[in-house]
Amino acid sequence: MAEARLGGRRHVVFRRACGGATSPGYLTAARRVQAGVRRRLVARRAGGGASSRDERNEENNRFSPNRAFQVLIGCDGVSSVVAKWLGLPKPILSGRSATRGLAEYPGGHCFGPEILQFIGQGFRSGVLPCSDTSVYWNYTWYPSPADGDAEESVAKMRNHVLGKLRAAKIPAAALDAIERSEMSGVVSSPLRFRSPLALLRGSISRGGVCVAGDALHPMTPELGQGGCAALEDGVVLARCLGEAFAAATMGAALEKYAEARRWRSIQLITAAYVVGFIQQSNNVVVKFLRDTFLSPLLAKTLVAMADYDCGTL
Ligand SMILES: Cc1cc2nc3c(=O)[nH]c(=O)nc-3n(C[C@H](O)[C@H](O)[C@H](O)COP(=O)(O)OP(=O)(O)OC[C@H]3O[C@@H](n4cnc5c(N)ncnc54)[C@H](O)[C@@H]3O)c2cc1C
Repeated sequence: MAEARLGGRRHVVFRRACGGATSPGYLTAARRVQAGVRRRLVARRAGGGASSRDERNEENNRFSPNRAFQVLIGCDGVSSVVAKWLGLPKPILSGRSATRGLAEYPGGHCFGPEILQFIGQGFRSGVLPCSDTSVYWNYTWYPSPADGDAEESVAKMRNHVLGKLRAAKIPAAALDAIERSEMSGVVSSPLRFRSPLALLRGSISRGGVCVAGDALHPMTPELGQGGCAALEDGVVLARCLGEAFAAATMGAALEKYAEARRWRSIQLITAAYVVGFIQQSNNVVVKFLRDTFLSPLLAKTLVAMADYDCGTL
């Protein structure tokens, strides 16, 4: 990890520990979840049925792959209807918005296996390679009347981002990635997060229903952990459901999942919000503290929050 100053702004570089430009860890974890669940389904189908009525009742209360309605996993994103059903309050608007894009380099790009991060007046931007031929970037900022009609169209948004980043004198290669990128049809999205207090006591599961991913822990994107945490949810949930095959009831399995994920979700949401607030604040005192003392701490927090072992299936 390295930090540099360019044009009076801090530029933080996070190198991936594993070195590769692609991120096989994501895919491997997702495949492991799939394979684990499949193995358990096969094992369950191969097992014998219950004999007595008590056993059958007990059986009905356990996970049954042929009765899909017994378990409902709400992974329906930040506006989750399942979270609403569970009584979790609506995610809160952070006051910031984000836009992002993907640049293709058919002949290969010049970026190394690292994340470039640029922090300027009220904005934060990141550029990172996804593969040998594609580079992802994002830009989050506090919208203000001074931004004019930037959010009216993709072209205006791109010009707005380029204008801000040029003024901050970021490296030409990063500007090129934004200039050549395909931006998503969604010009920009307001960033929302779940109140950590709501998660302290709120229901993450009830009976055979639970939430996972952004439906559980929508967070601001500073840590780059929203999608990773969704994969962690998947691993823990599959493990808990696996136990329901053996002994525990489905409801108990989901409760165990909920408790295992509650504190991690609270930590991630809180850390992401605090890091984002400090990184993008224009307050003179916060800026002074950030630039003088807090930069190394923020960088450490980013790495520490990502360095999490959710266990195996
Ligand atoms: C700017 C930005 C940068 C980010 N950077 C990173 C990063 O670097 N690393 C990282 O790990 N994460 C990052 N994230 C977070 C990551 O994108 C999300 O955490 C992740 O996409 C959440 O996945 P999900 O499947 O839970 O929800 P979603 O991706 O939102 O998927 C939910 C799905 O449910 C569907 N759906 C919704 N309602 C219903 C319904 N009623 N019925 C059926 N289907 C429904 C939706 O159509 C959607 O397909 C970033 C987010 C932002 C905004």
